[in-house]
Amino acid sequence: MHRTKVRVVEDALDANNTIARANRDDFDRHGVKVVNFMSAPGAGKTTLLERVLPQLEGIRVGVLEGDVQGSMDADRLAGLHVPVTQINTDPGFGGECHLDANMVRSAVPSLPLEEIDLLVIENVGNLVCPAEFRVGEDARVMVCSVTEGEDKPLKYPLMFRTCELVLINKIDLLPHLEFDLGKLLYNLDAVHPGVQRMMVSARTGEGIGEWRNWLSTLAARAEAPA
Ligand code: MG
Repeated sequence: MHRTKVRVVEDALDANNTIARANRDDFDRHGVKVVNFMSAPGAGKTTLLERVLPQLEGIRVGVLEGDVQGSMDADRLAGLHVPVTQINTDPGFGGECHLDANMVRSAVPSLPLEEIDLLVIENVGNLVCPAEFRVGEDARVMVCSVTEGEDKPLKYPLMFRTCELVLINKIDLLPHLEFDLGKLLYNLDAVHPGVQRMMVSARTGEGIGEWRNWLSTLAARAEAPA
């Protein structure tokens, strides 16, 4: 019984990866670089995007916004005059707590791929399930805010292990918290040794320039020869 269950999960992930490759082919064909942007709810994904998108001069950005319900974040980002496409997992996809490749596939026809260089996919806020599903991204960026506690890398290792960049957000709050930044970094290195990390504050703007440069570099990254 147990073995059958594992098999079904493996098949589902295989199917996801096949669709993710199809998404990736579409993005590559249009020269669009894609970031899968993930975090727990409330870590500051949307606010960080509000901060960084206006600074990405010369790069045409689009956002694919994933939420269980509603379009509050999409409405905020649309105010920045970037094309925003909303995916709601409820009711379309059973209220799932993450985006998978098929959900992103369903949105591809609505994405202005001809008109953008960089697509940021803001995933559903969740530290568990989004990490399990590739959606066709070039890079994964996660946000870990200092109000979440130092233990999160140890409790949700897959998320921390499968991203290229960790944004440690809300550092302006450090003087007010009993939070050991050194301990968080130690735990981060325990699950993903040497992963790139940036200290940022969406509130004060600290570190946003460094993140902007990272996104610019990604958007300009040349395709590896086939
Ligand atoms: Mg958000």
